[in-house]
Amino acid sequence: MIDINALHKSYGDFEVLKGIDLKVARGEVVCLIGASGSGKSTLLRCVNGLEVYQSGAIHVNGQLVEAERKSIRDIRTKVTMVFQRFNLFPHRTALENVTEGPIHVKGENRREAEAYAMELLERMNLADKAGAYPDRLSGGQQQRVAIARALAMRPEAILFDEPTSALDPELVGEVLNAMRDLAAEGMTMLVVTHEMGFAREVADRVLFMHGGRIIEQGPARELLSNPQHERTRDFLGRIL
Ligand code: ATP
Ligand code: MG
Repeated sequence: MIDINALHKSYGDFEVLKGIDLKVARGEVVCLIGASGSGKSTLLRCVNGLEVYQSGAIHVNGQLVEAERKSIRDIRTKVTMVFQRFNLFPHRTALENVTEGPIHVKGENRREAEAYAMELLERMNLADKAGAYPDRLSGGQQQRVAIARALAMRPEAILFDEPTSALDPELVGEVLNAMRDLAAEGMTMLVVTHEMGFAREVADRVLFMHGGRIIEQGPARELLSNPQHERTRDFLGRIL
């Protein structure tokens, strides 16, 4: 589904990704962990074409991802992204935030887009908030609207970049629950997170990034309970 080969990405002289190889299969949930600055967000941003890269290749369903190509619009409907800071349009209601992409990017008709958006908001337990503007919603509610928005494109995979780290602790659970449900329904997910409980319970695989490389990976329980690499041990020792 997502196939990354020998990916190198630099900002000027600074090489952020130093040869990433990663395959994510359909229906798989992969969690990406690692210290600040290790390149996790940059990797996700490359996958849905928000960043150009210098060498290597990324394919989504066999289609080459390149930020400057026309096909990138198509890729962004197949692989959507949920950000740390929700990034909702402030002057649009929850419902309008969810229908924006389907109507304006995919050209769906408004009635159908709204019907599906309502269904998604219901799944996120937000049916009563459809008409609310983002500043009237809690962080957890805003993030669930953002997940509904990501789902509205009927994507084949969703990338999550620390979706709970901007939330007050009491709101983290409701967002993780929504993500857990998606995983159970078979959504393909690549998730940057510091929520090790979530990773342990939901991820099929955990990858540890350090200095622009994936230096260790394995089944969640194995990697988290019995890390082999010293840097993974250091990192987990600091956050657990
Ligand atoms: P965090 O856990 O803090 O979110 P991260 O693992 O997501 O970190 P990235 O945001 O991918 O890390 O950044 C990796 C490196 O690239 C960092 O050293 C960062 O300063 C640098 N970087 C990121 N974006 C840019 C940019 N637009 N221009 C220059 N350098 C950048
Ligand atoms: Mg980041």
